[in-house]
Amino acid sequence: MNVIHLSVECYPVAKVGGLADVVGALPKYQRKLGIDASVVMPWYDKPFVKSYELEIVAEGGFNQGSQYLDYTVFHLDESILGFPLYLIKVPGFLDREEVYGYADDSEQWLAFQHAFLHWILNNNIRPDIINCHDHHVGLIPFLLKHGNDFKELSNIKTLFTIHNGQYQGWMNWNKGILLPGFDTWKWGLLDWSGSINPLSSAIRCCDAYSTVSEGYLGELVHEAKGLEGLFIEQSYKAHGIVNGIDLDIWTPANDPLINSKYNARTVKSGKKKNKQIFCEKSGISSEGLLLTYIGRFAHEKGADILAAVMDNYYSNNEKKLTIFILGSGDEQIQADIKQVFSKYAPKIAVYFGYNEALAHEAYAASDVILMPSRVEPCGLNQLYALKYGTIPIVRGVGGLKDTVIDVNEEEGYGFVFKDFTVESIVNAIQRALDYYSKEKKWSDITKKAMSLDFSWDKSAQKYIDLYNQLLK
Ligand code: ADP
Repeated sequence: MNVIHLSVECYPVAKVGGLADVVGALPKYQRKLGIDASVVMPWYDKPFVKSYELEIVAEGGFNQGSQYLDYTVFHLDESILGFPLYLIKVPGFLDREEVYGYADDSEQWLAFQHAFLHWILNNNIRPDIINCHDHHVGLIPFLLKHGNDFKELSNIKTLFTIHNGQYQGWMNWNKGILLPGFDTWKWGLLDWSGSINPLSSAIRCCDAYSTVSEGYLGELVHEAKGLEGLFIEQSYKAHGIVNGIDLDIWTPANDPLINSKYNARTVKSGKKKNKQIFCEKSGISSEGLLLTYIGRFAHEKGADILAAVMDNYYSNNEKKLTIFILGSGDEQIQADIKQVFSKYAPKIAVYFGYNEALAHEAYAASDVILMPSRVEPCGLNQLYALKYGTIPIVRGVGGLKDTVIDVNEEEGYGFVFKDFTVESIVNAIQRALDYYSKEKKWSDITKKAMSLDFSWDKSAQKYIDLYNQLLK
């Protein structure tokens, strides 16, 4: 079976969030299970891309509105990442430094989708399945079925995987002329409330869609930025498959990015060493519980509540807690955190920005991580944390609800709270502090956390089972 994963992020080539981690790991695990999986993504002006000599495998061109765009397809051998990687370069659109944040990103992703289809059509590439990831490639299922030039590709099955349904890629209809020619009778399949909506189009036109956890699948029918009814209507082709983690990258016993390696047997001493070095470097005390937040400063992540939580905790409690925050995004959230930091430093340390190595160090050093998400399709931080013996304190939504069991329940190993309020979060932190003060109990849940199996093996097989169903 031949499967192409189509995505605009892939670790370690270009990563903004969990989408990259999934696309950088899933094909590798699928290949181990015997299928021919590869990744196609845009070419970026990134260090990873420039550090390899890439082979040119195809060149071509197409019209996007009145503009003629040239493309080049580069190939990186399977031996580097564990799967063949193809990068499509389109000067002016797919040659940028960052993945997101450009005013013309609709044009950027249209160019990617059109170049991809043009390339496979003209080079006799006929995958059995195209697994499209998120709205940036959401027009592919529609174009395969109703694009004038792509009739020959219409038998290819599509699985559309939703990593985040909050972003849908809305486009004004005046951009309709930029799409490759399509059967205009079918325009309704592109439209949602007067705009072109790639996510809704993908849900309608794909052969099946999946979300990155079962819990999130259930939530989308209640809250999906206007698409709730569509998710109810199309639920007959919906599947929830929880994400895994790439153990080649995320195993504390052989993680080159952490100071002291450890396993479940040596977790206590290993963590202690990592914590000491990390706290010294960050200018905070290594006494007491070290709580970390890692993630985008975004409304859905609940990062806007962090400043109030810290203020509330430190103004009312004896100070046995230190906090480390690693993130970037919304400027107001950053300003609020900065203000609380200046009030309570050196109890708090912050790093504004994206830093992969620091994230590894923080997982290894911390006792707990906090994820106060409003919405969480799967969440990878809690899975990485568990592998590093770091106990998650999470709001019970989406994938967090599916993957973290509260210590008050049988076999529990985390702290789960329900309400998105400062009181509820501070209460969960207090529960963690109490637990932490009982050495044996803490050691038990730490070991339990590290023994859990969230590797990709099981979930990669579930994707393959689903592909097989589509091919029947
Ligand atoms: P999302 O994709 O919604 O941002 P996930 O939890 O699925 O959230 O994945 C986030 C990924 O990005 C994790 O690998 C996390 O460690 C990483 N990450 C997020 N912010 C940062 C940051 N500032 N520095 C380093 N890694 C980060």
